Amino acid sequence: MKYRKAASLTSFFTIRPRDAWGEIFFPESVDDVVRFTVEHRSFHLLGGGSNVVAGKLSRPVLSLRFLEGESTTHREEDGSVVVSMPAWARTAQLVDYLVVNGLSGLEFMAGIPGTVGGAIAGNAAPKGHSWEGVVRSVLYVKGGSVLTATPQFAYRSMRGIEPPFVILFAELVLAKERPAVVKKKVAGYAAKRLAIPYPSAGSLFRNPAGASAGELLDTAGCKGLAVGDAALYEQHANIVINRGKAAYADFVALRDEAAARVWKRHKVKLESEVKFWE
Ligand SMILES: Cc1cc2nc3c(=O)[nH]c(=O)nc-3n(C[C@H](O)[C@H](O)[C@H](O)COP(=O)(O)OP(=O)(O)OC[C@H]3O[C@@H](n4cnc5c(N)ncnc54)[C@H](O)[C@@H]3O)c2cc1C
Repeated sequence: MKYRKAASLTSFFTIRPRDAWGEIFFPESVDDVVRFTVEHRSFHLLGGGSNVVAGKLSRPVLSLRFLEGESTTHREEDGSVVVSMPAWARTAQLVDYLVVNGLSGLEFMAGIPGTVGGAIAGNAAPKGHSWEGVVRSVLYVKGGSVLTATPQFAYRSMRGIEPPFVILFAELVLAKERPAVVKKKVAGYAAKRLAIPYPSAGSLFRNPAGASAGELLDTAGCKGLAVGDAALYEQHANIVINRGKAAYADFVALRDEAAARVWKRHKVKLESEVKFWE
């Protein structure tokens, strides 16, 4: 296990909070992860850091970044293809794997940053898509035990395992398809992505039932709203960005001000989608 005491963690988060700081552990084996979950009952688990804003952290961080050595494999089973993938694989690697091997079912992940584990834990997808029906099982570590489960999915969440847990591998059930067809679908999803020319953590708020957080924020006058360098993107009111040197407190104040404006205008309570770690 590699360990860095009291280090700057800015570069571990896609939104690059200036003052992200804390202790960080890099397990090098499954045994390291197991031991860590025995020794630390309370910790932050970091995947690609694309859905988190962090400040000065009181809990240690476990990063799967240097877990290596397990490659993705697949086998045919009853007309489908079962892919076994490490949770620390980047979603970009997953999408490449689909194209190269002619596998269909997760093309919608094209252009979404982060890791496979982070995507499963948060059911990350573009609007209208889900990991439901694709994840047959996950292998995870919890409190020193290595376990498996078949998770269920809801909007931006995975159900069936009580946190804290560390997903290590996933078995995904995909369909065989011609690589050219998969490639075209991937390109279609990628083309719909909004280009964001700033460090970002994606959507700041979850969509409330039957409504769009982006529209509520827009009509409450939040497009381009800023606290210091923390801002809501001018092209899309729900995208949180860092225009330069934003610190954790700036993002917190931005979140609270935007939620207050939406409450005042629409009487709708917005919930954060981005995780705020302190
Ligand atoms: C430009 C941009 C666009 C985005 N677009 C979308 C989008 O269209 N749709 C969407 O849903 N999201 C989107 N996101 C948000 C983000 O990319 C996803 O939520 C992503 O899946 C997070 O994965 P991660 O590995 O970065 O997780 P992190 O940000 O590191 O962590 C997020 C959460 O997942 C947990 N987690 C991470 N790895 C594991 C694991 N192995 N086991 C258990 N829990 C784990 C963490 O503890 C944390 O609670 C976007 C973000 C950006 C920056």
